[in-house]
Amino acid sequence: MSTQSEGAKRRVRARVDGTVQGVGYRPFVFRLAGELGIAGWVLNDERGVLVEAEGAPDAVHVFLARLRADAPPLAEVRGVEAQDVPVVGAPGFEIVASAHGGAATASVTPDSATCEDCLAELADPADRRHRYPFLNCTNCGPRFTIVRGIPYDRPLTTMAGFLMCDACRAEYEDPADRRFHAQPNACPVCGPQVRLLERDGSPVERTAGADAVRAAADDLLAGRILAVKGLGGYHLACRADSEDAVAALRARKRREDRPFALLVRDLQTARELVELGPGEEALLTSRARPIVLARRLAGAAVAASVAPNAPDLGLMLPYTPLHELLASDTGVPLVMTSGNLSDEPIAFSDDDARERLSAIADRFLVHDRPIATRTDDSVVRVVRERPLMLRRSRGYVPASLDLPVPAAVDVLGVGAEQKNAFCVAKGARAWPSHHIGDLKNYETLQSLETGIEHFQNLFEVAPQLLVHDLHPDYLSTRYALGREDVQLFSVQHHHAHLAATLAEHGETGPAVGAIFDGTGYGTDGTVWGGEILVGGLDRIERCGRIRPIRMPGGERAIAEPWRMAAAWLTEIQAPLPPAFEDIAQPRWNMVARMSTNGMGSPFTSSAGRLFDAVAALCGVRLEVTYEGQAAIEFEALADRAAADPYPLELEHRGSAIALDVRPTIVAVLDDIAAGVPVGTISARFHAGLAHATAAALVLVAERRQLALVVLSGGVFQNRLLLELTSAGLEQAGLRVLVPERLPPNDGQIAFGQVAIAAARLAAG
Ligand code: ZN
Ligand code: ZN
Ligand code: FE
Repeated sequence: MSTQSEGAKRRVRARVDGTVQGVGYRPFVFRLAGELGIAGWVLNDERGVLVEAEGAPDAVHVFLARLRADAPPLAEVRGVEAQDVPVVGAPGFEIVASAHGGAATASVTPDSATCEDCLAELADPADRRHRYPFLNCTNCGPRFTIVRGIPYDRPLTTMAGFLMCDACRAEYEDPADRRFHAQPNACPVCGPQVRLLERDGSPVERTAGADAVRAAADDLLAGRILAVKGLGGYHLACRADSEDAVAALRARKRREDRPFALLVRDLQTARELVELGPGEEALLTSRARPIVLARRLAGAAVAASVAPNAPDLGLMLPYTPLHELLASDTGVPLVMTSGNLSDEPIAFSDDDARERLSAIADRFLVHDRPIATRTDDSVVRVVRERPLMLRRSRGYVPASLDLPVPAAVDVLGVGAEQKNAFCVAKGARAWPSHHIGDLKNYETLQSLETGIEHFQNLFEVAPQLLVHDLHPDYLSTRYALGREDVQLFSVQHHHAHLAATLAEHGETGPAVGAIFDGTGYGTDGTVWGGEILVGGLDRIERCGRIRPIRMPGGERAIAEPWRMAAAWLTEIQAPLPPAFEDIAQPRWNMVARMSTNGMGSPFTSSAGRLFDAVAALCGVRLEVTYEGQAAIEFEALADRAAADPYPLELEHRGSAIALDVRPTIVAVLDDIAAGVPVGTISARFHAGLAHATAAALVLVAERRQLALVVLSGGVFQNRLLLELTSAGLEQAGLRVLVPERLPPNDGQIAFGQVAIAAARLAAG
């Protein structure tokens, strides 16, 4: 401690804002104080961390600087605000129990993959946590998925029911220990236990008192299907190199054609299955450990049923000790797909999992640490050497994003209908939620509602303004309309896409944007989805679109892409291509009639539906089992060498531009008739659409003197289209913004809604 006289001392009270709870911040402060001879205390409260530091003025100065500069790896210090307070002369430095009361803006952090130190213990036969599936420390482990409330302390997590043993308690209380105040700290004596169960819930006999994980690994190697309770929910697992096992899983799960994700033990194994660049490798090994989509290598030792017709495989590395053990004990790539049936949400409570998964899984590998919030695996791919988020959930949530225009009142955005995520905001910070899913059933709607309550509680947000989509039939809109306690505000879907992209890059606009997606409710009551918009957070103007066409049978055309093809064939009065021979004449006639008279067939400018039409014309998919499937497979077929773009005319009506794709369709049909391979047709189509889109955007940018361009909407999950379009724009000297931290699909809508509402509030 300081030997200087009281008079030479200085005492400050410092407020540390940011992600500073559950990341070993207080022990760090404690050690720092010891090193610098500082007296005082540190505590967690609802806003973050509060410190009082007393010592020699020089030491206090250094202490304050290092509070930010030397913060531990998982911490993110947003600000340190210090004020001088009277010197009290008390010796020593202590960590004080959490205080209650006051505003709650303290950060709960995302779950983080097992750190190197913990992995070393897991593998060390001499360590007391050897092969313990729940070891963790202040630098790693579960966070968001176990948090029930704030402040982030053990009693408010799902670890509350586990009483620490003496050894764990000693670590927890020792400021010099890596587990000092690690809330989920546990060991085989006192912590959660894993068990292997038969599908009827009875324990598997030979695992009594033995290693259940090893037995589970043996089951997997024998080709069995296991339900595995993980971090944010249950997975269904089987060995990925066994066609029998994977095909059985696919049949039982009724997953139709959607690809299964794989868990591989390390980067080396991943390199044997897919093409990895530095971007993919960085994502695979990041603390968030998302599923990374990468191009499958020819000869990758993976069963055909893992990802039928898909050029990419989705891979992830182990992110919990349990997954680490399963991956290394089996030594083979494992399918790790969400524990659900078809499109249902992933199961995360034990009873629900037992009920829903017992018809799919042969056995259950379970544990007794409850999951507080259902959290799916995140999915990312690399495009233009940047991450492109496809699903943002485990590992990323609940990190906040800054709003370029702070919200004058607390705001809640309820998002769209598909790939729903909501977003709460307070001041300049917004917290986009985990992936909720498609709001088409009671269960997902329920998780939207409980999720909203949880976030309001975690970040102490009391929304006075609730923002919803213009679409009157979205369940999220209906939820909003049912809330009578708050003011409502509606935002057009594609405006939200544009605004979300601007806002995550800290921009407010104006910009010109191409928003290409499946379908969204337009201000004119038609179905939008291929829009050229000019504007910013405050407002937009529709300056162009893909030339509208009938969507025969409305929503049915999403599942049956041949209907969109029929609409185009009717429009340009072309004969049927060979792919359509299988469609019964009466059905064809009915749809052709709908395309002409418009019965139950709204006009749409949707780019997604255009992709569907062309893919169907080429015979790629006449019907699909999930939205976008035809387009994804069509992109996969593209022969990147051949890219002479198809003609696509820009039609000018006043200042508005229509992308007239009729010449494109004619050229596609000519190529089909001439026997040109689908790979060439796909490449030419992508090039034509990208070329015309870039040309239209450049034109609008010149007219309006704009330098900023936004590309977003679910269709821009298409890597080829995104690369070609942005290359064209960059060549013209424009700055291109693409979503990175949030998905280009409807997962970004809620954040866009909130950003728009905040900007409108500020503008009065
Ligand atoms: Zn650790
Ligand atoms: Zn213990
Ligand atoms: Fe959308």
